[in-house]
Parts: sequence; C-alpha cells; structure tokens
Amino acid sequence: MANKQHKGHRPIHSPEKGELAMIEGILEGSPDAVGVAVIRLDCGCRKMAAVDKNGDPASKVIMYRDNAESICPLCQQDNGDYMRVVKQFISWKSPEPDTATQAMISSKVLGSEQ
Ligand SMILES: [Zn+2]
Repeated sequence: MANKQHKGHRPIHSPEKGELAMIEGILEGSPDAVGVAVIRLDCGCRKMAAVDKNGDPASKVIMYRDNAESICPLCQQDNGDYMRVVKQFISWKSPEPDTATQAMISSKVLGSEQ
C-alpha cells in the first residue's frame, strides 16, 4: 500500500476526523463510489454524497453535524442552502482516479475545478 497522499501538485484537502469517519461509512455503503463530496456549511453542518467514476451520485446526500443528534434548525429549514457553503471538496477513495478524471468529476459535482 503506497501512500501517495503527499505527492501531486493540487492542494490537499484533508477531511477532519469526524468527516473521515462519515466518508469511510459512505464509501462502505457505496461500492461504485470513487470518492465522497464533502460540503461544509457556515453553521458547522456537513453535506456529503458519494460520487461514481462518471461524476454521478453514488449515494443519497447525507447531512450531519459533529457531536449532535441532528442537523441545526437552519439546515432543517433550508436543507443546507448553497449560499451558506464555506468549503467543498472531494475526498477520493484509494487508489485515486487520474487527474483528468478528478477534474472532470470535480467540475461536474462541485461546479468548478478545485
Ligand atoms: Zn446547519
């Protein structure tokens, strides 16, 4: 198992601990997934969804909040509105897809190349 985490020239977005646990759970439940889109909202809640190699959803969108039973009242109202997104990235499953595929999926899922 080679660790390629620190190679490459794109910025490394590292998921936080709580996110990592969620990502692993989502990947386990989504055999077609090549990664998980992580969307952080300004309220501290997170939105996540697995994506497949074509950039299509490979799971339902999951919303959660660290150390909380449920997402915040605001998210329950607006369902994590796009306007409140503070950071979004894709956490790739190992082995990561090639850069061209990553760029294609990122632009499809996140709306721009990350
Ligand atoms: Zn929230």
